[in-house]
Amino acid sequence: MNKQKVALVTGASSGIGKEIAKKLLQDGLIVYVAARRVEKMQDLESLGATALKMDITQDEDINQAVEQITQESGGVDVLVNNAGFGSYGAVEDTSIDDARYQFEVNLFGLAALTQKVLPHMREQRSGTIINISSMGGKIYTPLGAWYHATKHALEGWSDCLRLELDQFGIDVVIVEPGAINTEFGDVMTGPMMERSGNTAYGDLAKTIEKAVQQTYEKGNGSSPTVIADTVSKAVKAKKPKTRYAVGSMAKPLLFMRWLLSDRLFDRAVMSQVK
Ligand code: NDP
Repeated sequence: MNKQKVALVTGASSGIGKEIAKKLLQDGLIVYVAARRVEKMQDLESLGATALKMDITQDEDINQAVEQITQESGGVDVLVNNAGFGSYGAVEDTSIDDARYQFEVNLFGLAALTQKVLPHMREQRSGTIINISSMGGKIYTPLGAWYHATKHALEGWSDCLRLELDQFGIDVVIVEPGAINTEFGDVMTGPMMERSGNTAYGDLAKTIEKAVQQTYEKGNGSSPTVIADTVSKAVKAKKPKTRYAVGSMAKPLLFMRWLLSDRLFDRAVMSQVK
């Protein structure tokens, strides 16, 4: 009989991470969930998950979590690096400290956690690392420079990691969600308006705020369950794909990016924020 796999899902207090955790529990995995707002993971605990308080930018939280999982369950077999947020605002208006923090959460935090789970995966010569990137890891939007920089970086980082880990039987999977109905839109618009709402980029910021509200608040995005189903499929696959683009607008926008020149793609993007 196959050993019951142990999963760790970050950013499970909301949105995509919460749905991934539910799906992996349904699939019969032992599931640990992590986020800063532990109280928002009580529903997952009642479904059988173990909740861990983790700020992904804090090494102590990461070390403690991996230690607990190792002691209780032997180690992490499936790591879902999902915690993240969009720090929007014009480049000119965004402090370098805020930009650094965006990288701490969306890239360095998950890198530190990945380093901690790798020895166990290497030793057992198997494991799956799923990095939740974004269609924004390939495309780009105005006022999203730092967010897109982290996701473009995550794509390249994940490709390199895949090459390094293949020899140990460890899979690295990139998931590129489209627009998904979660707290993402609310988390991004407030700080964006604070930074750029009243600057030279104010008109652009207001248009983007409206577009984001239309996408997320009117439920035009996809349900986070589409990402959860994809992660479940990748975990079960003997040879998962390297990339999965899923959810509202992901495939058409990635296709357009592939097809169009930079200038034409610029025009297509800017036509949506006029
Ligand atoms: P939500 O805002 O609903 O969830 C974000 C999760 O990340 C929360 O559980 C939050 O937990 C966690 N998080 C944020 N900051 C930290 C931190 N410093 N330490 C630990 N956890 C943190 O958004 P989504 O579910 O949409 O986002 C999940 C991932 O999906 C992100 O990486 C995002 O970039 C990506 N994505 C989302 C898209 C969308 O349209 N929704 C599109 C493309 C990609 P807490 O605050 O409790 O710590």
